[in-house]
Amino acid sequence: MAELEVLKFPDPRLKEVSTPVEEVDDALRALALQMLQVMYDEPGIGLAAPQVGRAIRLVVMDTEWSEEDAERSPAVIVNPQILEREGRILWEEGCLSVPDYTAEVERSESIVVTYRNLEGEQITENVSGLRAVCFQHEIDHLDGTLFIDRISRLKRSLYVKRRKKQLRQDAED
Ligand code: ZN
Repeated sequence: MAELEVLKFPDPRLKEVSTPVEEVDDALRALALQMLQVMYDEPGIGLAAPQVGRAIRLVVMDTEWSEEDAERSPAVIVNPQILEREGRILWEEGCLSVPDYTAEVERSESIVVTYRNLEGEQITENVSGLRAVCFQHEIDHLDGTLFIDRISRLKRSLYVKRRKKQLRQDAED
């Protein structure tokens, strides 16, 4: 398999709605492992398949992992769905597909989420805080939504302007 590249805003593929995974097979496992490698290399705490150009409902994350030498507890999440939401929380978010930018985003404080794992088992989890935020951020990717779609119009347009200027400068270099 060719090396995966993380797509960056404003790549139009980031706006696609991904389709459910039909079967957890070896190809899917291989893709998930590659995505984990990319996530740890970047580094990031979550990565959704559409961010590497695969429009399927597959996510990898590791919300325990904070630094290079820390122990890893990778999770592979297939076809996640939020069943319940409770409370509100503001969280400073960033994204591997949105270079050089972070902003506070309002999310549900805790959620009940259900998904399949790589063994094909159906898991239902009650999560809160960072893990809940990460699930919501990654599931947004599966629906073609970026965290900058959830901030004020003014903040978003300032970022878009800055990003376009940066891309023009990169093109000139
Ligand atoms: Zn992201």
